[in-house]
Amino acid sequence: MKLQNYAQGKWIAGEGKEKPLFNAITGEQIATASSEGLDFAAMMDYARKVGGPALRKMTFQERGLMLKALAMHLISLKAKYYAVSSKTGATKVDSWIDIEGGIGNLFANASLRRQFPDESFYIDGETAPLSKGGTFIGHHIMVPKQGVAIHINAFNFPIWGMLEKIAVNFMAGVPAIVKPATLTSFLTEVMVKDIIDSKILPEGALQLICGSANGILDHVTNQDVVTFTGSASTGKMLKSHPRLLEEAVPFNMEADSLNASILGEDAVPGTEEFDLFIKEVQREMTVKAGQKCTAVRRIIVPEKLVEDVQIALGKRLAQTVIGNPEVEGVRMGSLAGLEQVKEVREKVEQLSKTQKMVFGNLDNYEVVGADKNKGAFMSPILFINDNPFVNTDCHNIEAFGPVSTIIPYKNLDEAIELAKMGKGSLVCSIVTNDDKIAKEFVLGAACMHGRILILNAACAKESTGHGSPMPLLTHGGPGRAGGGEEMGGKRGILHYMQRTAIQGSPTMITKVTNQYQYGAEQTEFDKHVFQKYFEEIQIGETVITRKHTVTDADIVNFANVSGDHFYAHVDATSLEGTIFERNVAHGYWVLSKAAGLFVDGKKGPVLLNYGLEECRFVKPVYPGMTIGVRFTAKEKISQEKKEFNEGEEIPKGMDIKKGIVKFLVDVYDETGETVALATILTMVKFKNQD
Ligand code: NAP
Repeated sequence: MKLQNYAQGKWIAGEGKEKPLFNAITGEQIATASSEGLDFAAMMDYARKVGGPALRKMTFQERGLMLKALAMHLISLKAKYYAVSSKTGATKVDSWIDIEGGIGNLFANASLRRQFPDESFYIDGETAPLSKGGTFIGHHIMVPKQGVAIHINAFNFPIWGMLEKIAVNFMAGVPAIVKPATLTSFLTEVMVKDIIDSKILPEGALQLICGSANGILDHVTNQDVVTFTGSASTGKMLKSHPRLLEEAVPFNMEADSLNASILGEDAVPGTEEFDLFIKEVQREMTVKAGQKCTAVRRIIVPEKLVEDVQIALGKRLAQTVIGNPEVEGVRMGSLAGLEQVKEVREKVEQLSKTQKMVFGNLDNYEVVGADKNKGAFMSPILFINDNPFVNTDCHNIEAFGPVSTIIPYKNLDEAIELAKMGKGSLVCSIVTNDDKIAKEFVLGAACMHGRILILNAACAKESTGHGSPMPLLTHGGPGRAGGGEEMGGKRGILHYMQRTAIQGSPTMITKVTNQYQYGAEQTEFDKHVFQKYFEEIQIGETVITRKHTVTDADIVNFANVSGDHFYAHVDATSLEGTIFERNVAHGYWVLSKAAGLFVDGKKGPVLLNYGLEECRFVKPVYPGMTIGVRFTAKEKISQEKKEFNEGEEIPKGMDIKKGIVKFLVDVYDETGETVALATILTMVKFKNQD
């Protein structure tokens, strides 16, 4: 079978020299791959001219819903991917991480739409007041880059590797060209076929290269983004491509990582933490046969516990049945191919020169349900390095298989130092129930790590583990790990957007951003905003309320109702040394009174008030002052109507199409000066319920 590339809207089998691809368990050839004949420049142009504009037209809400639809579609087809995934040597658990972990990433990114406006662009951070009179302000707008995301991926996660990256660039409104590692591209190809056939993505949003992508970087421009996951040597070679430098193209690199797991001195045998440590390390050594960028390569333990760890870990590793994942009881499959076995064996031999192998054997191990000589199998290998400050290979050589080294430490400073000797890692974990140890370790080691897991009995049950990058957190690490950041919730999406500072009058910036800016024109209409449907409310639309003169009774009554008898509100004799001249009104009273002024109580399209953002009490309010509210529609975010399955019970009021309207509450006094500012969030019904 010839794998196909998806280029410029067509499926094309590469011409010329084809690379044979093998079933990692049986050694049989299952496909060939070639990208010869593809015109990379034309593919990139197609993405920029066809996919980009279509995605940029969509709002974040629409892009999120597109990802959600895609995730639902792919999950319905998952059995197909599991069947193909087993040919990469993966067990069911390994495949679950790749397939369902990848699809889960689409879901997680789809949900992020709620953190974005109902626009194709994003307004970042706070307004910057740039003038005394308030007529000149600054802000930051973020727009999708008008280029293409080129994702060059490693062989170990043919599905997750693609989905965790494209989810993010699609959310941002940028098309992608995916280049999986050739070795396991047969699995990526199956899924991309389903994605394209589903027509859920706009044309040009996704293209696929199954063979080599050598030369693709010759065509990048400054609007493109390149991401690379793979070995540091390839990464460095690509990162120094002159075209990247010339065009200042962002290059996000995720490379080798010699991740460590540290056993806290408190976690002695007999504690729950000791058992957790052994379990976690064994799992991280053997899941995906150790071919995980986050796998534990260095096991850093207190000197006095080395023997206990070696024995306990050895016991668990001995129970790890290696073989054909289809066979019941098999816990570790094969590496992804014979090339990988050769590479890992070479690394193990290098490591053997400076440290002692205490578990496993390169030749002598058992394989269940498969021919050991044909499949890409390997035994777990455990080393001990007694002199880790002198024999430093374990901190530098990454054997990308089930290979790890126990390293002793004398005190916490040494443990921190040793963890940092990986010269930058994606992740490390510390297993301890001692908060002082945890804090000192985190503060000492964080500069060299992208993520730190602190594991103890309290979180173990729900912990996602040392090895799982989570879509809402950044994934990446400094130094050797490439210095990159992927995913990371909103942060990841913004990576594909250009942040531009914009300056002008508040009214002009309001019009450009569709977000009301303090000081901009306010328009009053006859009808109260609470009597208007979502579609009818205009940004900048304002209600100027009636006024209220504050009395001592207001303060006393509020103190009694709320039970808040803070001295500044109730004890006029206690104000010496404070900024207050007299009993000051409670900030929460000011806000509550404001609600009494701006709320229109008649039943209307406003369904509920569900919170506050950015609340500030900026000037003391005393009895005798007169307050009023300027209540202005600031921002609108529409929400899709929640869908329910047939027969499913619909919670009360949940079948309504509605959106969120943020209102700026500007409470001011008789001089016109603002005394309190807040943003309230209301849920407002649509007039059109279709
Ligand atoms: P690799 O050999 O460096 O290849 C990585 C990718 O680069 C592959 O898709 C490869 O394509 C492509 N590539 C190679 N030369 C290229 C060129 N001239 N132009 C464009 N693309 C090119 O790495 P690997 O063997 O697939 O992966 C194993 C390594 O990845 C390990 O060292 C591991 O630590 C690292 N890794 C890191 C992470 C992380 O998140 N940090 C995750 C997974 C793996 P071909 O397959 O066609 O050669």
